[in-house]
Amino acid sequence: MQNTVVKRIKDRLSAAERSALMAKVKPRQNKSTEMRVAAVLIRAGVRGWKRHPKDITGRPDFYFPSKTLAIFVDGCFWHGCPRCRRNVPTNRREFWTDKIAANRRRDRAVNRALKQSGLRVLRIWEHSLNDRRWVDSLLRLLASDS
Ligand SMILES: [Zn+2]
Repeated sequence: MQNTVVKRIKDRLSAAERSALMAKVKPRQNKSTEMRVAAVLIRAGVRGWKRHPKDITGRPDFYFPSKTLAIFVDGCFWHGCPRCRRNVPTNRREFWTDKIAANRRRDRAVNRALKQSGLRVLRIWEHSLNDRRWVDSLLRLLASDS
């Protein structure tokens, strides 16, 4: 019932309207994955970061102003992780496929914009939080200022 209504509304929208609408529906980042990263940073004594600064493109999950480093923790489903290949729901499959593709395009655009403005970008897949290799990558980036 609900889906039928949504589909009807969706079909009425032009491609441009639809993408504008979809852009507004931000993927709800899983708060707990970000909290896991924050907990590791705190335990490792890493300081000088901000969360979701409004003035930085893409509002990185973690931002180190003095290290010119932006970090994103990407949910495997929302950002279309090639390794996990989370199953796209069969219901409204096209909607989800489009949405994930749009997220990936936005991720790439954000990366480009940040790099152009002289920032370094580290993206951490949700699945990779299960081992500590990302911590080493992060510490290496923090040790080299640029
Ligand atoms: Zn993954």
